[in-house]
Amino acid sequence: MEKITSLCKRRGFVYPSSEIYGGMQAIYDYGHYGTLLKNNIRDAWWKAMVQLRDDVVGLDSAIFMHPTTWVASGHVGGFNDPQVDCKKCKSRFRADHILEEFGINADKAPLDELNGYLDKLREEKKLKCANCGSTDLTPAKIFSLMVKSNIGSPTDELKEESVVYLRPETCGGIYLEYKNTIDSLHRKLPFGIAQVGKAFRNEIVARQFIFRTREFEQMEMQYFLHPDMMKEKYEEWKATRWAWYLEYGIEENKIHWYKHEKLAHYASEAYDIEYNFKTLGGFKEIEGIHARGNWDLSQHSKFSGVELNYFDEKTGEKFIPHIMETSVGLGRLVFMFLDQSYTEEIVGEETRVVLKLDKRLAPVKVAILPLSKKEELSVPAKEIWNTLKQNFIVEYDETQSIGKRYRRQDEIGTPYCVTVDFETLSDQAVTVRDRDTMAQERIKISELENYFKEKLG
Ligand code: ATP
Repeated sequence: MEKITSLCKRRGFVYPSSEIYGGMQAIYDYGHYGTLLKNNIRDAWWKAMVQLRDDVVGLDSAIFMHPTTWVASGHVGGFNDPQVDCKKCKSRFRADHILEEFGINADKAPLDELNGYLDKLREEKKLKCANCGSTDLTPAKIFSLMVKSNIGSPTDELKEESVVYLRPETCGGIYLEYKNTIDSLHRKLPFGIAQVGKAFRNEIVARQFIFRTREFEQMEMQYFLHPDMMKEKYEEWKATRWAWYLEYGIEENKIHWYKHEKLAHYASEAYDIEYNFKTLGGFKEIEGIHARGNWDLSQHSKFSGVELNYFDEKTGEKFIPHIMETSVGLGRLVFMFLDQSYTEEIVGEETRVVLKLDKRLAPVKVAILPLSKKEELSVPAKEIWNTLKQNFIVEYDETQSIGKRYRRQDEIGTPYCVTVDFETLSDQAVTVRDRDTMAQERIKISELENYFKEKLG
């Protein structure tokens, strides 16, 4: 973890937010390379989920939504986590996470049940603060994850009746735009709506870098269908999402399915894809794939008074569509790809740190490195940069020794470095170095663009 967080800060991937004011827990900013990597992952998801399909359309709904949305969805009443505090060092814990350490699955268990388990551990003298070792821990209490704000009412009066919520998940916007999407795009079932956007949760425990943050981006797709199709489509989407991870270089033995045993009352099936983080020491949830029944649309129909039925012209049947959802955190994916690609190799006497990212995800595709700052090399090097940057994210760097520049590009995962040297002036060719093999090839400048188009796709 220490190695990844320090690389992220040193190389401009991720910074703690508001650092000059002492930072804010579980809020992070993405620097230049982090933004590029995150955008590439987002685009790879969008390509697979929307661009390559004829049954999924896109949406970008607002973060602020009518407050009743979250009453209807059950979030205002029940989007809570159970919190336990250490009275001595004031550390906070999630009660279900403490119990997980003892092999007790108390995910979504009611407070009484949780406190029963905790009391038993207390009696057995097993319950201790993971931070200071004290046995003086509070019973579990409910902690709402909803983040409140105000809009259209005075800032200094955050009354219950004027509260609006920062959305805790993006799919709320999808449900509310189901009708407009059907009406405007004339979609027939089954079809999906996908969106990428910010979500906010007042997480109790936030000590896992960008794995769990209070402000984060979700990429969600809600697939609307007739309940008879659920089983078939559910299996199809599970296979599709699994294949996406493999396509972008996640090793098959590093991910597995976690089947939810305790389902929400409206759900018929729920699996998560978990990835085995080196940095977090085990398998953690990355993406959820859930069969949600028709709960969401039924609730919004009930609370809004607007019919959200679907009329099947072929069968004459009228019904509220059921929903199959895929939901993944973009920051979690960034973390997963960093975790998987971070590699240390011994080269000669030194350790080489390299991010072996899939080339399509790498923040920078090509670095142009003239061997000397002298004009006779910098002019042709900049010409190459000017040409290649029209099609690829290309970086020009003439500072420090060539060895240091290679190391810097390795650390940000740049697949190719182009060295312009004095021979270039006579043979009109450059040396291209491959990030993973470190093999070098001489390529004519006139062939470079096609060479990279082929290599990078
Ligand atoms: P967890 O059990 O880890 O709190 P969850 O089951 O509440 O997650 P969902 O509500 O199913 O998560 O959200 C779907 C996805 O959104 C998760 O699989 C995860 O990738 C992402 N996600 C959820 N909460 C956070 C967060 N606080 N920070 C970053 N990503 C998150």
